[in-house]
Amino acid sequence: MRLASLRSWAGAVAAALLLVQAAAAQDKPRIVVLATGGTIAGAAQSDVQAKYTSGQVGVEQLLAAVPQARDVATLRGEQISNIGSQDMNDEVWLKLAKRVNELAAMAEVDGIVITHGTDTLEETSYFLNLVVKSAKPVVLTGSMRPSTALSADGPLNFYNAVAVAANKNASGRGVLVVINDSIHGAASITKTSTTTVETFASPVRGLVGAVQYGVATFYRGPVERHTTESEFSLDGVTALPRVDIVMAYENMDGKLIDAAVAAGAKGIVIAGVGNGNMTAAALDALAAQAKKGIVCVRSTRVATGRVGRNVEVDDDKLGLIASDDLNPQKARVLLRLALLKQRPLADYQRLLEQY
Ligand code: ASP
Repeated sequence: MRLASLRSWAGAVAAALLLVQAAAAQDKPRIVVLATGGTIAGAAQSDVQAKYTSGQVGVEQLLAAVPQARDVATLRGEQISNIGSQDMNDEVWLKLAKRVNELAAMAEVDGIVITHGTDTLEETSYFLNLVVKSAKPVVLTGSMRPSTALSADGPLNFYNAVAVAANKNASGRGVLVVINDSIHGAASITKTSTTTVETFASPVRGLVGAVQYGVATFYRGPVERHTTESEFSLDGVTALPRVDIVMAYENMDGKLIDAAVAAGAKGIVIAGVGNGNMTAAALDALAAQAKKGIVCVRSTRVATGRVGRNVEVDDDKLGLIASDDLNPQKARVLLRLALLKQRPLADYQRLLEQY
């Protein structure tokens, strides 16, 4: 072959390769990563120390640290906040929910991954589960060890979260949390250990699925109402009502319950002992607030199990609501959204049982 024709043949092959690459990139699901901070973006001075600071690494660095994720999806990132999730607040929540809804409505977005601290991951995921209006996958992830640690868990958690968000089977399952090889539903996930990587569990309802090196298996879809079937909406909402959690304990009186209402709480969730129980004095104070129109929910400080109506407490007589299987922090999220609208007391019980 003459040199000139060899050159043009090589040029044609190179152009064809570029086209194939471009087509492959187009075929990959397009995932947007919203970074909010947390330990997954945390850094320490050495790779073997417990002391570290959350929210030190930006979204671009986070993406660059896991180049393997670009094999499963076309990625781009946005920084929503860069805070430890112990500082999570309504301003960030409203901004995040608005952005997720905007992105999910775009034809060129197939899924969303949110990186988040683990302390309040269970609350943010449940909040989004109630207010996101899309069946597209929305997947939260985080890590227990900072990005600088020996055996950091963040990179694989992130890779798995991207793979699940890119997976068509993840659609319509509500907001998911992918962490430590597990796929959790937003209504059930809870943090159970202060420091270990296997901290998250989904008591009562169980896992939605499992994921290993990007390969996901789904066991079930969440049974509660969520996202597209949720009756909650943030349209026109600029602030959320105050709801406080009061924990029950031996010799409890009603002073903290009354203090919460004095501070402006429109609802109270009791993290009760056992099946949502509390002392007679606390129950008297709670029933008195319920009579005045404060919505009072009995949940439990116990890690797993349901709180049923009228078991040891006469909810019908006292005007109280039982949390079913929502833990206090999730019952609080639901109650804040429920209080955006006036509704009869019985409707709160329906919401606790359906979501
Ligand atoms: N305090 C951290 C946070 O929630 C813990 C973590 O992310 O694991 O942001």
